Amino acid sequence: MTEYEVSCLGKTPFPSRRAGRRRARQIRGEGGPRFNTYRCRYCLAVHLGHALGHATYLRFTRHGPTPLQELTP
Ligand SMILES: [Zn+2]
Repeated sequence: MTEYEVSCLGKTPFPSRRAGRRRARQIRGEGGPRFNTYRCRYCLAVHLGHALGHATYLRFTRHGPTPLQELTP
């Protein structure tokens, strides 16, 4: 699991932090987890990351479900 895979791969790219925040608020309004936004150093888009304290989630890999710790932006 590389930093690239954790912080970029499979994440939705947003053109701006404003667009990302709008989506994060929508998810939150639907009862989802809290997200913060960060500028991706790899694709230069904005992604949503789990807010601190909501950091662990599961990702399915060929080795089975793997818990991830969100990297601090
Ligand atoms: Zn990215």
